[in-house]
Amino acid sequence: MNAALGPLDYRVPHGMTVAPGSIVVAPLGPRQLTGIVWEPERLPSDAEVGDNRLRNLVGVLPAPPLGAPLRRLIEWTANYYLAPTAAVARMTLASTSALEGGRTITEYRATGIPPARMTPQREQALARIGDRQGLIRELAIAAEVSDGVIRGLVKTRAIEAIEVAIDSPFALPDPGHAVPTLSADQHDAAQALVAAVEARDFEPWLLDGVTGSGKTEVYFEAVAAAIAAGRQSLVLLPEIALTEPFLKRFTARFGCEPVAWHSGLRQSQRRRAWRQIAEGQALVTVGARSALFLPYANLGLIVVDEAHETSFKQEEGVHYHARDVAVMRGLFEKCPVVLASATPAIETRHQVAIGRYKELKLPGRYGAAEMPEIAAIDLIEHPPERGRWIAPPLVTAIDETLARQEQVLLFLNRRGYAPLTLCRTCGHRFQCPNCTAWMVEHRLIHRLACHHCGHVEPVPRACPECSNEDSLVACGPGVERIADEVAALWPDAKAAVVTSDTIWSPAKAAEFVHRMEAGDIDIVIGTQLVTKGYHFPNLTLVGVIDADLGLDGGDLRAAEHTFHQIMQVSGRAGRGEKPGRVFLQTHAPGAAVMQALITGDAESFYAAETEARRDAGAPPFGRYAAIVVSSEDKDAAHATALSIARTAPRIEGMQVYGPAPAPLAMLRGRHRFRLLVHARRALDVQDVLRDWLGALDWKPKVRVAVDVDPYSFV
Ligand code: ADP
Ligand code: ZN
Repeated sequence: MNAALGPLDYRVPHGMTVAPGSIVVAPLGPRQLTGIVWEPERLPSDAEVGDNRLRNLVGVLPAPPLGAPLRRLIEWTANYYLAPTAAVARMTLASTSALEGGRTITEYRATGIPPARMTPQREQALARIGDRQGLIRELAIAAEVSDGVIRGLVKTRAIEAIEVAIDSPFALPDPGHAVPTLSADQHDAAQALVAAVEARDFEPWLLDGVTGSGKTEVYFEAVAAAIAAGRQSLVLLPEIALTEPFLKRFTARFGCEPVAWHSGLRQSQRRRAWRQIAEGQALVTVGARSALFLPYANLGLIVVDEAHETSFKQEEGVHYHARDVAVMRGLFEKCPVVLASATPAIETRHQVAIGRYKELKLPGRYGAAEMPEIAAIDLIEHPPERGRWIAPPLVTAIDETLARQEQVLLFLNRRGYAPLTLCRTCGHRFQCPNCTAWMVEHRLIHRLACHHCGHVEPVPRACPECSNEDSLVACGPGVERIADEVAALWPDAKAAVVTSDTIWSPAKAAEFVHRMEAGDIDIVIGTQLVTKGYHFPNLTLVGVIDADLGLDGGDLRAAEHTFHQIMQVSGRAGRGEKPGRVFLQTHAPGAAVMQALITGDAESFYAAETEARRDAGAPPFGRYAAIVVSSEDKDAAHATALSIARTAPRIEGMQVYGPAPAPLAMLRGRHRFRLLVHARRALDVQDVLRDWLGALDWKPKVRVAVDVDPYSFV
């Protein structure tokens, strides 16, 4: 399927039957493409072709046709986010091998027999493959060798081929496996959701409960009701690192694992999941946002866990927000949608306020656990020692916690050692050659890395500008630097750094959970990756190294995000019987968001934020759409951006700002200009944008991306 193609007309040859949703092979020029049959009246083709010139479809693929609700979702998503229909449809056909039929696939694994001739590459391959299994390509990637090396090992019998059945059904979760005894609040909430599942109709819900209140237990009861009714459930998680703890909990409740869907799956696993989902056999799927577009045969429930998370917003390709698309999928599939969160987004709260979503509240933690005490440490009053980042009151609290043999979490949302490196002699700063961004030092791998494009370079000995040696200094802290400080202050404590650099797979996450549970870690130093989902009863102290970090940048949601993030990370403290404490290191203890966190008065904070949004006509009271124009040729990008601004329609209730160089003025070698469209709620911005941009032409080397309801303003 080609994302750029519009709908095309074909003839169905004699003897072939297709229906809307059928997945077919169609000729295009000399090539053959995968396509989906659509109702012609809903998606008229771009070019009228005479009947006599229509080409025949080549064949129908042996996969179940996409259902009407999914086709309506694809149309809605393409329409709302101004994306090509084919680009959205392609997300549903996420496993090409699933479309091909066949019941087995050939995978490879090591036999343990050493090859007749060992080479360094073969040695590396076998060491890295370990007990992994997969396609030749997958093993080659894992081992960082060429396909040829793996094929050579197959010839010498060090690696063998095995036929893997890929259509075997998944184990069926048992709703009665380990039924919890719910508290009264939990019981009421669960009953409401169970009734909604049984009603088999669309209904959006906000499940608003503090961290540790048992939201998961509650929505599990709705999942149980769907399983009992033979209908499928989808649980969306914001981060694949959360999958592992979720699988464990699910297994404890239902006796077997759910089907997991994420980018780390092997091709055979993808294919098996896709097919069983399409055939209605896989009853519960848990996944990242891409799981939203899978072809569920019989969907009875959608849960979006940690629904306030901004990682549900896709920032590349089709710029969709999985939380909002989930609600639309529920509408088309006629099933309830549950948004679970301890800190619901202002947009979601607004839907409750205007009566569109129903709300369920779990006000207290489950059992004996209490919400932790949150206190600020004023960094002006209690500055850390020179060259250090942990202020004395937090040092004392860590001492006390370690003395009680409890665990500590230090939170800093910055990977690497230092966010900026500069030369003490000449002031030279290390900038990415492809992006308007500083290079971040990663001391563990001895590299400077750009967090935007992935460019890495070695840390030089001398300044490239003035050639002075040993003149480079690291400015500011990242988690690795905090880890150094922890090692210096508490040499006997066992510390672990948890970021996407160290936890890059579900298996790594499982290892981390295991070490925490075994008491093998005393101090965790982590980024936002550790703020969510984890339940460690012996973790009783959370220190936020820089609570002000998310507040700069002037983003519309900066204060709200800071609030969410700190509430989430605070939620890791004191989840068991021992009480938890949280310290926020800040330069602005008087700021509204810090006061809301300390006093626990979330409602006044939300009320003030909501009023500010109302005054500004910002979402959810008004609409934004960003237009980002980029090109390697700066003048071409600028010219296109200017012509977009010049041709902006004059419409009552709509303003267009810009173009201005984007805050990230260069990204991956492309120069970027932004325009922002601000409109009142009732205006059909998409329609306006379609007409407006549709009438313009720009050079092929210029890219124009529209981001409807943007979350990123860089
Ligand atoms: P949330 O999702 O709101 O953060 P969880 O569902 O993770 O809360 O619950 C927090 C902890 O309390 C978990 O370990 C969970 O197993 C436990 N828990 C919550 N409700 C119950 C219950 N009714 N019976 C037994 N354990 C419960
Ligand atoms: Zn870069």
